[in-house]
Amino acid sequence: MSSNLSGIGMTSQRTRMRMIERLRELGIADEAVLNVMYEIPRHIFVEEALASRAYDDTALPIGFQQTISQPYVVARMIELLIKGRELGTTLEVGAGCGYQTAVLAMLERQVFALERIDALLGRARKNLAQLRLGYVRLKHADGNFGLPEAAPFDTIIVAAASSSVPQALLEQLAPGGRMLLPLGPSAVGGQTLCMLERNDVGVVETRYDAVRFVPLVAGVE
Ligand code: SAH
Repeated sequence: MSSNLSGIGMTSQRTRMRMIERLRELGIADEAVLNVMYEIPRHIFVEEALASRAYDDTALPIGFQQTISQPYVVARMIELLIKGRELGTTLEVGAGCGYQTAVLAMLERQVFALERIDALLGRARKNLAQLRLGYVRLKHADGNFGLPEAAPFDTIIVAAASSSVPQALLEQLAPGGRMLLPLGPSAVGGQTLCMLERNDVGVVETRYDAVRFVPLVAGVE
């Protein structure tokens, strides 16, 4: 391992453990999720100048007006998606710098992730290459259309807010599958985590926490 990964100073095991303790205090109880988030060096996903804040429970800028998601939100979303089952074949929309992709890939063997900003995707690739992960496929694409060639998905996790459910994503949800997305306007407030589960009869919707995500934007750049 390079010294960048070995965990020195602010990026030490103790600092990481504090983040995990914080997640527990906030109610995260899934040991698999907590373990994986302890293992993954979040500091390699942010710029060096921000590395000392990498284990704070906060979103941080990653350039291009985007952010690395707050650890609690990553943990909360994956905990809701995994509850009582396995993630199975998973699609992430909005890979950003690849942090959540890494968490998913350490929990599940088949992970696909889409990102609309090519430069960010390049960074995600570089970051993920530093970790030993299972099968992750990253693609430069507009996540509104999902990934038909790899569908159906047991899990779809959307990391950007939209005012309505993208129909293509719903269509790519497997029987018994779960999709979790922030629904609502991208202006401050107003977004809610929304779970959609496909069962024998149709799709069941459950609303969870109020959240604040960057907007799901159409097209690629
Ligand atoms: N999963 C990231 C969060 C990144 S922020 C993490 O672990 O921190 C959300 C990301 O969604 C941004 O990088 C943004 O560019 C991307 N995004 C927004 N709209 C998108 C779309 N239609 N398709 C794919 N990615 C999109």
